[in-house]
Amino acid sequence: MPGEATSPRKFVVRTFGCQMNEHDSERIASLLVADGLERTTDVSEADVVVLNTCCIRQNADDKLYGTLGHLKSLQAEHPGMQIAVGGCLAQKDRDLLLERAPHVNAVFGTHNVGRVTALLGQARESGESVIEILEAPRLDDGSEFATAMAVRSDLPYAAWVTIQMGCDNSCAFCIVPSVRGPEVSRPFGDLVREVEQLAAAGTVEITLLGQNVNSYGRDLTTRLRVGAPGLVHQTGLVHQTGLVHQTGLVHQTGLVHQTGQRWVDEGARRPRPLFADLLRAVGSVEGIRRVRFISPHPKDLRPETIAAMAETEAVCEQLHLPLQAGSDRVLAAMRRGYTAERYLERLAAARAGIEDLAVSTDIIVGFPGETDSDFQATLEVVAEAEYDSAFTFIFSPRPGTRAAEMAEDFVPSEVIAERFEQLRIVVERSALARHRARIGRVEEALVEGPSKKDPSMLTGRTRQGKLVHFSPSGEPGAPAASSAVGDMVQVRIDSAAPHHLRGTLVGGEPPRRHRAPRVPIRIPVHAS
Ligand code: SF4
Repeated sequence: MPGEATSPRKFVVRTFGCQMNEHDSERIASLLVADGLERTTDVSEADVVVLNTCCIRQNADDKLYGTLGHLKSLQAEHPGMQIAVGGCLAQKDRDLLLERAPHVNAVFGTHNVGRVTALLGQARESGESVIEILEAPRLDDGSEFATAMAVRSDLPYAAWVTIQMGCDNSCAFCIVPSVRGPEVSRPFGDLVREVEQLAAAGTVEITLLGQNVNSYGRDLTTRLRVGAPGLVHQTGLVHQTGLVHQTGLVHQTGLVHQTGQRWVDEGARRPRPLFADLLRAVGSVEGIRRVRFISPHPKDLRPETIAAMAETEAVCEQLHLPLQAGSDRVLAAMRRGYTAERYLERLAAARAGIEDLAVSTDIIVGFPGETDSDFQATLEVVAEAEYDSAFTFIFSPRPGTRAAEMAEDFVPSEVIAERFEQLRIVVERSALARHRARIGRVEEALVEGPSKKDPSMLTGRTRQGKLVHFSPSGEPGAPAASSAVGDMVQVRIDSAAPHHLRGTLVGGEPPRRHRAPRVPIRIPVHAS
């Protein structure tokens, strides 16, 4: 009816996979909001459903196609409902996805997340399904990395910032290099500016995301050296192309801001920004109280990174250092590029350099050919590492990876299940011991909101990333129940469990600390 107000179309974005995908999902949601849609949690009333997929594990395929089957019947009851599938699995399956699920309206890959609304519009106008998969990020298109909408919808004070896409390694079990392509780093200056904007908008915690954050910047140098036009455009050097062939590039004052100030101004004269430089730069942005990152590859954990973590107040005492296996034979078969001994040396260097460091890891159980003694070696390394937590995975063959071709060496599932349980016990033992050691301490916690299990309690995260449930009634003089989401408070730890802490609110805003490195940082140098 003319003049009648129409209610906005509604959307749901579902994420299957890792934090990188969750970040992309936030971007997708923001693009849909900018396009006039409204978020809903009820898929049955959604006009647009976007599934952002991950193909790292086999059950991701099963989950996706199962969800698509369910959506097919909803779509039949809700004419005009559009379904879009993006992410790693879309990048991998491409046309196959539309063959298996022809009711999907749009398919997009990992490099064109920013095109989701355009593709949905195209599909609506043409009445046909559309598919667009790019093989690599378009380097001349800043929108590939558009992160103005990186603020997390679950935690309004926190944001993810992608610093790098893709991976140059070739771990035998991993499909990331083939679906996300080679490493592409975002320009240093763009990242610092983005963090400044996030801080100005009220973000206090950022998590830097990359498949191998420690190699951040490596490709920037290569592209500058060869004068790749994409980078020239992105870094704002487009009018000074003559400079890209000069090795003295970093001395050009006008370029300093674009390419990064730290490693230029402080006498390092390095030809590339290091991840450590980025940590120091984003950690010094006014308003940013906490910086986290995932994940550094153990083989690339540099002393500079440890020093930057130790010396930058905002960088949290938390390190996720994926082990994957503790047997050198299995590590070699996985093509991880380190031995158990070297891994433990790097971990020891990190712990020596960073006071009160919490360490987590990833471990795969049942990699093809893993024997009892290989697994025993893993248990020994895990026990020695004394992790605060571990993400443990059962090996799952991904088509297109080397490990998937090792079918004759697959470990029987009952053997894997038994090993998995043994590993859980060893991890939980060290996690509990490390958590118990915190009892009686007063920790800084950033309030996330009421506890999901007990709404009379609040939940927050300590600087080490530990979940702490605490009583808001506090002690005399404490700011009682007035704590709100995003408040920084002080919590006394009263008890501990393997996966969380419990405590009592004892104060508001904790005093700011000044950091200094504890000991000179040395990592043994090995021939690579
Ligand atoms: S470092 Fe290995 S596991 Fe990590 S993304 Fe690259 S190939 Fe995959």
